[in-house]
Amino acid sequence: MTAPLIVPAADPHAGVAARRAEIDAAIARVVDRGQYILGPEVEAFERELAAYLGVPHVVGVASGTDALLLTLRACGISPGDEVITVGHTAVATVAAIELAGAAPVLVDIDLATFTLDPAEVERALGPRTRALLPVHLYGHAAPMEVLRELAARHGLQLIEDCAQSHGATVGGTKTGAMGSAAAFSFYPTKNLGALGDAGAVASRDAATAARVRELREYGWHERYVSHVPGMNSRLDELQAAVLRVKLCHLDEDNARRGGVAELYASLLRDTGLAMPVTRAGCRHVYHQFVIRHPRRDALRAALRDRGIGTLVHYPVPVHLQPAYRGRLRVVGPLARTEEAASTVLSLPMYPELEPAQVRRVADAVREAAHALAR
Ligand SMILES: *Cc1c(COP(=O)(O)O)cnc(C)c1O
Repeated sequence: MTAPLIVPAADPHAGVAARRAEIDAAIARVVDRGQYILGPEVEAFERELAAYLGVPHVVGVASGTDALLLTLRACGISPGDEVITVGHTAVATVAAIELAGAAPVLVDIDLATFTLDPAEVERALGPRTRALLPVHLYGHAAPMEVLRELAARHGLQLIEDCAQSHGATVGGTKTGAMGSAAAFSFYPTKNLGALGDAGAVASRDAATAARVRELREYGWHERYVSHVPGMNSRLDELQAAVLRVKLCHLDEDNARRGGVAELYASLLRDTGLAMPVTRAGCRHVYHQFVIRHPRRDALRAALRDRGIGTLVHYPVPVHLQPAYRGRLRVVGPLARTEEAASTVLSLPMYPELEPAQVRRVADAVREAAHALAR
């Protein structure tokens, strides 16, 4: 018998319940208007997200994976090209590169921030390298200052995976506003989450945004005439209306996540556990609060016994997954990527977590880690 969960790892319903009246009104507005695809809600959401990010262009699409694929295609990435990214990420990052017909090249991460290590990029560069695709994992930005300089020096596109970094900043600039273009996911548990699948592409370049716009709907400029071979990756009006409500509360929600993280950090300070790090000049938005432990699976089971839900992001690096094993170009042994995969543990993290729940989790982590150390 497993005990019922006292604190779940994530609770997307809590974020909806907190804004139920606003969300209900937004949904009713769409239902009554009778326009369900690419209408005024999508247009307004695109404008509002662009203003939030500080970029001139945002294009709503059907998912984060599509956002990555369409960003890659709009940036001119095509078969024969190589894109440098990491294996410690959601598989979607690497899948999208292959969907664009290009070849992913995986490099190792920095274990403090779990993001792409720029020192590894030089070794991965080759005549076919066309783009760098850093992932701002767990809510903390990859080292964009260095990556921008590298991309400029080698004439590469710099594409940001912002699926976990809505609102995160580097030197006051939002992630999503620093590269050639950026992909966002609004999967329900992300910092900005819809009530289903949704995504968006952000870009400072009008031509890139225009290409995403045509690619997301059959290559159309006007109805029924395809100028390029496109696809259907439209954003629903319903999801856009919900996202407009959620976007209004994103900064407040991120601040709450920051409060939860601060409390975890102070309660777990002297446990010897590896804790999240924020680089100078960055704002971490704590999509996840990730600790590391050498006996991660035992710690996870002990927490489960105490009613605490946790998750592992991610247990198997992409280059070791059955679909990819042995056929991706990997630069170096990816020792830190594999170390992360076997030691990371995501503690419960969502804006509605109460301080008493955070204390309960921290107490359980302390007890369990202490018992494992004996
Ligand atoms: C969630 C996620 C994606 C994929 O987004 P979907 O909306 O699920 O397609 C891509 N990259 C990262 C880092 C993610 O966390």
